Amino acid sequence: MIEPVTTIKKGLNIDAIRSQFPILNREVKGKPLVYFDNAATSQKPQCVIDALVNYYTHYNANVHRGIHTLAEEATLAMEKSRDAAQEFINSESREQVIFTKGTTEGINLVAETWGRQNIGAGDEIIVSNIEHHSNIVPWQILIEEKGATLKVIPVNEKGELVIDEYRKLLNPRTRLVAVNHASNALGTINPVKEIIDAAHKAGALVLIDGAQSTVHLDIDVQGMDCDFFAFSSHKMYGPTGVGVLYGKKELLEAMPPFQGGGEMIKEVTFEKTTYNDLPYKYEAGTPNIADIIAFKAAIDFVNGIGKRNIKQYEDELLQYGTGQLKEIPGVRIVGEAKEKVSVISFIVDKLHPQDLGILLDNYGIAVRTGHHCAQPLMDCYRIPGTVRASFAVYNTKEEIDELVVGLKKAIKMLS
Ligand code: PMP
Repeated sequence: MIEPVTTIKKGLNIDAIRSQFPILNREVKGKPLVYFDNAATSQKPQCVIDALVNYYTHYNANVHRGIHTLAEEATLAMEKSRDAAQEFINSESREQVIFTKGTTEGINLVAETWGRQNIGAGDEIIVSNIEHHSNIVPWQILIEEKGATLKVIPVNEKGELVIDEYRKLLNPRTRLVAVNHASNALGTINPVKEIIDAAHKAGALVLIDGAQSTVHLDIDVQGMDCDFFAFSSHKMYGPTGVGVLYGKKELLEAMPPFQGGGEMIKEVTFEKTTYNDLPYKYEAGTPNIADIIAFKAAIDFVNGIGKRNIKQYEDELLQYGTGQLKEIPGVRIVGEAKEKVSVISFIVDKLHPQDLGILLDNYGIAVRTGHHCAQPLMDCYRIPGTVRASFAVYNTKEEIDELVVGLKKAIKMLS
């Protein structure tokens, strides 16, 4: 039997993986879809779609307070997702897994609770030059309110954080270091263990933005020893509108609630309200039940393939894509860190990323163009933005070839 061209020897059967993603069968502008916008959001496998439909078809009910069968089934399924997420990031306990809308909400939760309680005038928060706006703006809002200061870890030309400079920023006024595990704009994987250990030595806490790492890298929050870790389901084959905030137990217990409402209380009187135990203290209101339940299907999907296998395959795509793109005259890769997830950002001499993106869409190729919610990074590199191709486990070298052909045509048309 002839092996399918996309099957990697001794590796993953990519054709079998692709067949689980119904959207990959569609055409865009009369061409087969090539989806390279995975860092923005990944596509969803049939098992995730089925989990959503199954919940709404068979056991839609509100969770936790119902005594009827449907409510019990929904509660059980939702709490199973918490267990799966706990295992996925190796949290000490399920109580430390708080369901949020996504990474952004997780970071804002920490800023508005721990931040409000613990940051004062003259305190310092450190972020890096390669953060997503979600890990900059919540801290800016906080420091403005409190009279604190934001410090920034510089980035070098390759897209790596300058760790020696980071060490110099740490001082007794540093209260928090908030950095991403992997950069959405460049793909850089940051040395988070080193960053965390140095921060702890200086007496500061660390929040890790795991939006771009969770789908590619093994996550061990205990091994990492981070104080907070936030990530989103939709970047790891799960539904939108659900994410997780992990926190160390003593911190989560000491922090004030985020939002008030149902579920987060033990007892309410007009005189005094007592708050619920973890994790419910931070989960006010009806949660995003369907998406939380389907999130477990995504976790199972990723575990089923194995993150190490995913990373190994995506590394092949990254290396192949980087090599192919570099051969095109005028193309410059932005971000060539030694350790990267499967993100390739690039610019083309004299051409605007947006024009290239529009032309590529005409060939059915979905890439992202612009500042990637990392404007300070673009300013630092003095570029308006980049074209970004980001790969998932269902992408293939043949699709990268399509990108190369499309890009050459686009460059010719625009030059
Ligand atoms: N941080 C990083 C590094 C990201 O890539 C993103 C999403 N692009 C976010 C935070 C925000 O994630 P979400 O929009 O899912 O809240």
